[in-house]
Amino acid sequence: MSQIRPQPGIMEIAPYVGGKSRVDGVSNVTKLSSNENPFGPSPAAQEAVKRSAHELHRYPSTDHADLRAAIAETHGLNADRIICGVGSDEIISFLCQAYAGPGDEVLFTEHGFSMYRISALAAGATPVSVPERERVTDVDALLAGCTDNTRLVFIANPNNPTGTMIGLAEIERLAEGIPPQALLVLDGAYAEYVEGYDGGAKLVEARDNVVMTRTFSKLYGLGGLRVGWGYGPIDVIDVLNRLRGPFNLSSTALAAAEAAIRDTAYVEKCREENTRLRAILSEALAEHGVPCDTSTANFVLARFGSQQEAEDCDIFLQKQGLIVRRVAGYNLPNCLRITVGDEPSCRRVAHCVGLFKAGER
Ligand SMILES: *Cc1c(COP(=O)(O)O)cnc(C)c1O
Repeated sequence: MSQIRPQPGIMEIAPYVGGKSRVDGVSNVTKLSSNENPFGPSPAAQEAVKRSAHELHRYPSTDHADLRAAIAETHGLNADRIICGVGSDEIISFLCQAYAGPGDEVLFTEHGFSMYRISALAAGATPVSVPERERVTDVDALLAGCTDNTRLVFIANPNNPTGTMIGLAEIERLAEGIPPQALLVLDGAYAEYVEGYDGGAKLVEARDNVVMTRTFSKLYGLGGLRVGWGYGPIDVIDVLNRLRGPFNLSSTALAAAEAAIRDTAYVEKCREENTRLRAILSEALAEHGVPCDTSTANFVLARFGSQQEAEDCDIFLQKQGLIVRRVAGYNLPNCLRITVGDEPSCRRVAHCVGLFKAGER
């Protein structure tokens, strides 16, 4: 047997499975499987991408000063406590590399985002999952799951794929109750969808054991460019910056993200449309006998009677050219996650679920 072997933990990683984007034999599909913004990126971000084409022979900024300043101005934050990464996935990965290794535990909830497990294993640490309470993050279960070996506690708020969220008082209780060697990570990939929610930024500033991650992939519609950021105590940001490659973000990605975050009118419009369309979608599904938890994000988690019914419905929808997300891998076998698309897509997916429930398969 070969003596060339990967580090412990790596072969335990089940490779990430992204949302499908095609169906064999169907040419015109509507993709509602990856929580993308159906309206695309801000026109200002698209312009910035085109302008960047003239400067592609230049290396990009290494300190991301302009983007960090734009983020800080828009959200009223301290630019020195911001780090930008190749998607928030890279920030999650830095956190695991920096703070968890063999013998350490990385804690998250049973329906938590799959990158927490993957990044923990990649760092050689032990992923530990605790139950949720009816698809809602359970702070008591997380606190009970903490040990002397817990180094990182991840929650997404709102959570993916459930769409539910917990209040700031609960998050504060969690930050207060975790052991002294542990860092709480608030994954705010969907924070922009919640009017008036700061993703936990104030809590980051008030404490020394909380980090927030954010992304340009969801509401800003820039998933293809891969930009995310983290906000944390200055010492933590310094640690993460030591792991960060000097040119981790391309000049095109930096320029687009900066233009996108400054286009606050576009952000506002997308948030409002999402709220309106999410209500249309979840009410229509409920009328067809398919309940959803109250979602605060840009998707809903549709609950079926059984795993078989969820799978049959998924197959039926695919035949109609509608791609949604199976979430059995998130321990939710009888559910399908449906991204809030534009109005015709929302109405069509609800209509087709209705046809399926009415037995027209
Ligand atoms: C989509 C998503 C992310 C990250 O996405 P990036 O594209 O890497 O920024 C992080 N956390 C959750 C919960 C997500 O759903």
